[in-house]
Amino acid sequence: MASVSLRKLEKSYGALRVVKAIDLEIMDGEFVVLVGPSGCGKSTTLRMIAGLERISGGEIRIGDRIVNDLPPRERDIAMVFQDYALYPHKTVRENMGFSLKVRGANAADADSKIRDAAEMLGISHLLDRRPGQLSGGQRQRVAMGRAIVRRPQVFLFDEPLSNLDAKLRGQVRTEIKRLHQTIGTTIVYVTHDQVEAMTLADRIVILRGGDIEQIGTPDQVYNHPASVFVGGFVGAPS
Ligand code: ADP
Ligand code: MG
Repeated sequence: MASVSLRKLEKSYGALRVVKAIDLEIMDGEFVVLVGPSGCGKSTTLRMIAGLERISGGEIRIGDRIVNDLPPRERDIAMVFQDYALYPHKTVRENMGFSLKVRGANAADADSKIRDAAEMLGISHLLDRRPGQLSGGQRQRVAMGRAIVRRPQVFLFDEPLSNLDAKLRGQVRTEIKRLHQTIGTTIVYVTHDQVEAMTLADRIVILRGGDIEQIGTPDQVYNHPASVFVGGFVGAPS
């Protein structure tokens, strides 16, 4: 079953068309990576799925619902940003529990979800700290924990590793992969980094100037690039 469907999805800012009627079906449990150079429309596409940006045309379905006009909170998604967006004055526990609290979860249930997610991410010992007392890698784990506690149908990641140094990037990347294998939810992940795309994706979607240039498994796009642009982008031999 499709978890996320984009049908003729469009976005324009005035006369500037930044997403050009793209069609994409993302299956339940699939890890799909949107890649492409800066400005090709990756973040805009993700933000439309999240409901943070109005669509200019087409349709977005999550599960069996058309969500075009639903606010973010009523879509079954959680988004992890590159800049973490944690509340500085709240503890890790409070940061992770906030979205459950605003949705009216009971305290004992929320606490057990927080403890499970913290354990999965290796941050159980940090629950009483505040973001200012954490490293960049730890903050990124908290941001993921905050998404995991809600067990959404779909996780959206926008360049979650780009503020980490090279060593940490590898570690957190491995954790994201493990997370997907453990909880098995659908992930839509945006990056401009070919290595991330090739190592994480079940399928890669290569965007260029607001159009889909190619969709395929890492193996397909690497061995059978549809264009010189794709070949150059995934680093395939020409
Ligand atoms: P990417 O994430 O692939 O780097 P974006 O989706 O952020 O690209 O942006 C795609 C294009 O849309 C860029 O040309 C960008 O300048 C433009 N854009 C993004 N947001 C806005 C906005 N709020 N107003 C006008 N143009 C925008
Ligand atoms: Mg972006």
